[in-house]
Amino acid sequence: MRCEYWGDIPSRMPTCYRCGQPITTRERFRRKVKTGELLRRRFQTSKPSAVTTRFGMRMVCRDCAHTLDAEWRRHELVQYVELFIAIGLLLIVLLARFFG
Ligand SMILES: [Zn+2]
Repeated sequence: MRCEYWGDIPSRMPTCYRCGQPITTRERFRRKVKTGELLRRRFQTSKPSAVTTRFGMRMVCRDCAHTLDAEWRRHELVQYVELFIAIGLLLIVLLARFFG
């Protein structure tokens, strides 16, 4: 087995946070990924009251970086569309008040 020196990374080969595959290229992709979910429960009822999602920068492989990029782009697009609809509705309400 051939040994390679990975610069600032000690002996252990880095693995992808998302799929667990060893990162074999020198390219390193860091992406914001979901690192955990925190479920808060009410003491008496034990019903979940809030879910907090935590995100962090983690090293991922090339494939996962591309997948995550696509996911974030879609997420951003949805947010823009929602914003656009909200502004549209606001304008309709304002115009209705102005003319009505
Ligand atoms: Zn991966």
